[in-house]
Amino acid sequence: MYFGSVRFFKHVIVAVVIILIIVPCVICFVLGAQLNEQKEENEKLRAEIGSGRIEEYNTRYEADQMFELYRDKLDDKEGFLQRVYGYDPGEYSSALFSGEAVIPDATDAPVTEPAASTAAPETSGDSEPEAVQAMAESTDGVAETTEAPEEVPEFTHTEASGGTTNVRAAYEMMYPELYADVPENIVYNEDMDYVYLTFDDGPSKYTDSILNYLEMYDLKATFFVVPDGSDESNARLKRIANAGHTIGIHTASHEYNKIYESVEAYLDDFKIAYDRVYAATGIKCTLFRFPGGSINDYNESIRDDLIAEMTRRGFIYFDWNVDSSDALGATWTEMYNNVTSQTKACNRAVILMHDYNGGYNTILVLEDIIRWLISNERGYKLDKLTEFVKPVQF
Ligand SMILES: [Zn+2]
Repeated sequence: MYFGSVRFFKHVIVAVVIILIIVPCVICFVLGAQLNEQKEENEKLRAEIGSGRIEEYNTRYEADQMFELYRDKLDDKEGFLQRVYGYDPGEYSSALFSGEAVIPDATDAPVTEPAASTAAPETSGDSEPEAVQAMAESTDGVAETTEAPEEVPEFTHTEASGGTTNVRAAYEMMYPELYADVPENIVYNEDMDYVYLTFDDGPSKYTDSILNYLEMYDLKATFFVVPDGSDESNARLKRIANAGHTIGIHTASHEYNKIYESVEAYLDDFKIAYDRVYAATGIKCTLFRFPGGSINDYNESIRDDLIAEMTRRGFIYFDWNVDSSDALGATWTEMYNNVTSQTKACNRAVILMHDYNGGYNTILVLEDIIRWLISNERGYKLDKLTEFVKPVQF
């Protein structure tokens, strides 16, 4: 009597309702789990590429476009690392972004700057300090003597300390061997549309990643360094040098209050950094960049004297005319927009980026900036700074 009864039909209805609820729930659950898995995978990839990047893209592109760009990058990096380093693509991020990429054999002779052998008479070489100091008193030219190591720096930039009265400041006597060996009568390359990537504050754990990108695109750049004298720092300096990039001095301490206290204090700090680079690479730097740029809030009282003194010693400083603002905490989008918009407005662009103080964001945006530059219709030429590049100064 149960079958066909009202109770039976009630049960049938309940069973059908339950099935209608349970089956979709199970399907949802399975699909949800799959989606979640996918999401986790995306999260993992995102973490590898770097936090913030995806969101930044998302503000500028539709989601599908974003993933196309993303996939494109991924393929390139895998290909590059396989080709150049033979890494397992699965490990690409740890190799590229952790700064643990292969450091080329550091036993090679350091690549020295293309310092012209028609060198200026200011060559101080390895001459003994006393000799230079003594010779410096009498500024007669001894340039005829071929490669005389004691050749005298000519004091042609004494305006700041009294015009032609030749009043010598005490700091001019400091570090008599600290002179830049730069060619005389430089004829600058003033071609338009040259772009110079510069990285301040390294070497750091990010240096290898920067170098990898530069190598990937076969580019040369400039590093204004803060060497700490450690083995790690020296190895990275050596890698920068061996790759043929320009190394310029930034500072040893990067403490504005300390280094801009006086010209003497600046020279003390500069000398430490200069010696460390020389010890690590054999390079005697000729280019430098003032921490904070040549005009900053800390150096006002000594600025003119300091610039005159460094110039008198033959050193060439570069400021910048394009600021990525990476050290100011700019996001990926801000950095990208800063660099592209400011570069467009320049005939020649010196781009300020940071090896260290920009953090991962600098690494993340670097390739995009490089791609924009090399594919731009203006045909930008990317190069490193040398003494033959007309300085960009504030
Ligand atoms: Zn700096």
